[in-house]
Amino acid sequence: MRMPPEEATCESSPRGDAKLVLAGARINSRMDCVMKNKPSQKHTRKLGGQKSGPQTKAVHAGEPLRHGVGTSVGPSICRSSTFTFSSTEEMKLWAEGKSKAYIYTRYGNPTLTVVEEKIAALEGAEAAVVTASGMAAISHILFCALKAGDELISTAQVYGGTYRLLRDVFPGLGIKVHHVETNLAGMEELVTPRTKALYVETPTNPTLRLVDLHKAVAFAKKHKLISIIDNTFATPVLQNPIGMGFDIVVHSATKALAGHSDIIAGVAVGNKEWMERMRHMVIYLGGSMDPDAAFLLNRGIKTLGLRVARQCENALAVAKFLEKHPKVERVHYPGLPSHPDHALAKEQMRGFGSMLAFDVKGGLPAARRFCDRVQLFLMAASLGGVESLVVLPAYTSHYNMSEKELLRAGVAPGTVRVSIGVEDSADLIADLNQALE
Ligand code: PLP
Repeated sequence: MRMPPEEATCESSPRGDAKLVLAGARINSRMDCVMKNKPSQKHTRKLGGQKSGPQTKAVHAGEPLRHGVGTSVGPSICRSSTFTFSSTEEMKLWAEGKSKAYIYTRYGNPTLTVVEEKIAALEGAEAAVVTASGMAAISHILFCALKAGDELISTAQVYGGTYRLLRDVFPGLGIKVHHVETNLAGMEELVTPRTKALYVETPTNPTLRLVDLHKAVAFAKKHKLISIIDNTFATPVLQNPIGMGFDIVVHSATKALAGHSDIIAGVAVGNKEWMERMRHMVIYLGGSMDPDAAFLLNRGIKTLGLRVARQCENALAVAKFLEKHPKVERVHYPGLPSHPDHALAKEQMRGFGSMLAFDVKGGLPAARRFCDRVQLFLMAASLGGVESLVVLPAYTSHYNMSEKELLRAGVAPGTVRVSIGVEDSADLIADLNQALE
């Protein structure tokens, strides 16, 4: 059976593997000895002279070598919270920061490594660190980038949870947050010597406005700011901000990456240095992912490309239907020429995504009536799964926000957010039609 030690799973790992994993380590501090396994060769392996494509990476990157007789095709779940040392010498090496062995799952775990390598490969980044939730990824990376006295520029239109974190927690930590609109107008005037980072989300939750990625990167580079982007709505299938110059990508992996509405998960992606800091922050703050969630995330990602392609098709069909419906005031979908960021979406995205929102004529009562009447669509928060969902942002993602804040986020009283799944578009449209009657 061919299984190099650095690929070893929990079950197969023979005593002494840890030593082999050490090979080539040059680690200076105790904190540095968290998992830094060599990226597995799979996603860089050339297939027929070509670098493997995104769907091949989604299936194979990070996975153990699977050849020979009786090797399991599916990766194992390593549920162990702790890992053995081969000797006290090994333990000493770890304490001195000279060992890269797995020692404790909050520091690293083979099942987490598989999915981290897969996501890094998909985003075209050097490394990734998975976390217990999208908010853990966002908060941990912001804590890596900012300290008391620093300032952050963020688009005002971000996921409500991110907005509330910046509004309710950061000022108390001595971190000042400035907001800009998605067109980034006026951001030059907000820069001070204390500005350290730029945070954007595109497309935005819930009204699908876009930030010009090239403009954001150029601004961040000019002022030496750390650029961070929430890529949850686009997914790596539709946009790769690292390749465009962003330093860090974060995801709520709960959503399209996992894709089946069955885990809470997050990830930060970037270069090795940033991910080393991120790993340390996870160790400090404790937002590590559970191995079972990592297994499901890894499995979900294998069909990400297929799901997103289908969801994009369905979403466009639904958006076109809604736009013509007499009871609909306005549809927010970047795939429609009527959307203010349609041209930008065509330029910087490879598809328009699975999310849309629409404003029902008649405001909140009409929007509530619609949501209460859907049958195939499920009335639930979250997004990006195989099931189509509807929700009122003012009562879910954007709760606890003033009318002014909701307006700025683009949320009208009658705004309904729709997450499109992989069902048959004719059935989705039939359900919307009956619910709007
Ligand atoms: N970012 C976006 C765009 C989201 O929609 C969400 C959740 O809805 C999050 C981050 C937070 O992710 P999680 O719920 O996994 O913590």
